[in-house]
Amino acid sequence: MKVLITGGCGFIGTNFIRLMLEKHPDWSITNLDKLTYAGNRLNLLDLEENEARYSFVRGDIGDRDLLMDLLSGKAFDAVVNFAAESHVDRSINDPAPFVTTNILGTQTLLECARQCHVSRFVHISTDEVYGTLGNVGQFIETTPLTPNSPYSASKAGADLMARAYFETYGFPVLITRCSNNYGPYQFPEKLIPLMYMNAINDRPLPVYGDGTNIRDWIYVDDHCLGVELTLLKGREGQVYNFGGDAEETNINVVKTLLSIVGKPESLITYVTDRPGHDKRYAMNFALAAEELGFAPTVSFATGLQKTIAWYESNQQWLNQVQSGEYKNFMDRWYKER
Ligand code: NAD
Repeated sequence: MKVLITGGCGFIGTNFIRLMLEKHPDWSITNLDKLTYAGNRLNLLDLEENEARYSFVRGDIGDRDLLMDLLSGKAFDAVVNFAAESHVDRSINDPAPFVTTNILGTQTLLECARQCHVSRFVHISTDEVYGTLGNVGQFIETTPLTPNSPYSASKAGADLMARAYFETYGFPVLITRCSNNYGPYQFPEKLIPLMYMNAINDRPLPVYGDGTNIRDWIYVDDHCLGVELTLLKGREGQVYNFGGDAEETNINVVKTLLSIVGKPESLITYVTDRPGHDKRYAMNFALAAEELGFAPTVSFATGLQKTIAWYESNQQWLNQVQSGEYKNFMDRWYKER
């Protein structure tokens, strides 16, 4: 199978590409990534240099000419769209790039894939499109979309456009909605790597509000398995929820992390809550369990240990990302070739 992955130099895309090339010797993957601040080509440089089944193209999912060239020339069997602006806090400061990439970019990608007769299109989305829950209940696939942040609103817009491409044109779209991911290669603006980085440097750990907001955490490999199952076995036009069965308050995540790295809770600093901060997310993934055979395999306790162990043994990656050196490194790498 020939697969076009978008946004593969980001956190989840990187893990997905590595896992799929390892599991499927008959797959070849092209990774189209714009390399925004969140895209790190270094993540997959070993594959670029040594793996014939992997290739990289720098580009924007909103660039119609580039997409038509790529999709008409290479006869991809499937497209998996991870590319997005993904950070809620950034979307609050400046929503415009979220609309441009997440809505307009996704529509451009859908349109070009449709015109080039791609036979499977998996669009990656998030539980955040459903808005927030109170103390009880879970999101199911038919829960109304009531997004509260510019990020989640832009993802909901993309989901609805993907749905429209199925309903209007019969284009074979499938949508995955997943809860909070954590694991290797996550950019250190997100909760777990940010807290890890601050903790090991004895810096304050900023926690929003009173820290009681609840997220459902899923180890990134489990999400990748969900995407793989959707791609291989999902019903066209269907939305599938994925979660880790691991609801945790933010404060509990931070305290557990501190105990793993052996740092004191006195580093925790409560800061003014994020505007529009959703209180609780919880995913019901019974449909994916029943139709696709999905079940999360990594508990939160194990996943967090694994994640911290990865950051501990990849300090150089973290330093390069923190300092911005990953961008310079790639410039030098190009010049030397
Ligand atoms: P990320 O921010 O780590 O990576 C995003 C990638 O997309 C980067 O490599 C970036 O360079 C690329 N990109 C951005 N704009 C682009 C454009 N216009 N054209 C091409 N490439 C572009 O994000 P992530 O955490 O890996 O998330 C991947 C997808 O999964 C996103 O769609 C996100 O909404 C969704 N998701 C994430 C989570 C999570 O917890 N991280 C949970 C559920 C769903």
